[in-house]
Amino acid sequence: MRAEEFLTYSAEETRELGRVIAARLKAPALVLLKGDLGAGKTTLTKGIIAGLGAAHEEQVTSPTFTLIHVFHRPGPKALKVYHADLYRIEGAQGLSSLGLEDVLSEPCILIVEWSERLTLRSDWPVVRVELEHLGGDRRRIRVSGLDVSLALDASASRTGSSKAR
Ligand code: ADP
Ligand code: MG
Repeated sequence: MRAEEFLTYSAEETRELGRVIAARLKAPALVLLKGDLGAGKTTLTKGIIAGLGAAHEEQVTSPTFTLIHVFHRPGPKALKVYHADLYRIEGAQGLSSLGLEDVLSEPCILIVEWSERLTLRSDWPVVRVELEHLGGDRRRIRVSGLDVSLALDASASRTGSSKAR
């Protein structure tokens, strides 16, 4: 699968990349985020959800305690966007209590932080995003699974693309 790699130098650049990703997203889709604490998963999610028109960036906060938040895009192109954080999930039981199967019963966008903890079968298209600290405010963000190449007018700089294994 094609992977594209970006470097961002501020939280705003990461949010902007999120908006660029949002412009390419079509429901149904799973957006699976990986990366250490503070890598920028929630920050990127702010941009994605704002870009989808489902909330303002400041309304998107880490679903640390409730584990899942839902946002509604109103209007003729109504859309539900779910934002889950599996950091505190304990085992399969905790995961099933989240009710993700129900979430996937109708087309939506599901964005998952700590997605490596997800054990879920779905045939929905998957966008994978890996975020990495490069020290200070620099982050490396690899995106794969968006079928259209990301057109970047954003300030986030593209460092080249590669074929992922
Ligand atoms: P995570 O959800 O991966 O734990 P957050 O998005 O909550 O990470 O936190 C990232 C933190 O790093 C925020 O405080 C953000 O302002 C800061 N930050 C600094 N530079 C960047 C960058 N280039 N991209 C994303 N966040 C950044
Ligand atoms: Mg987070």
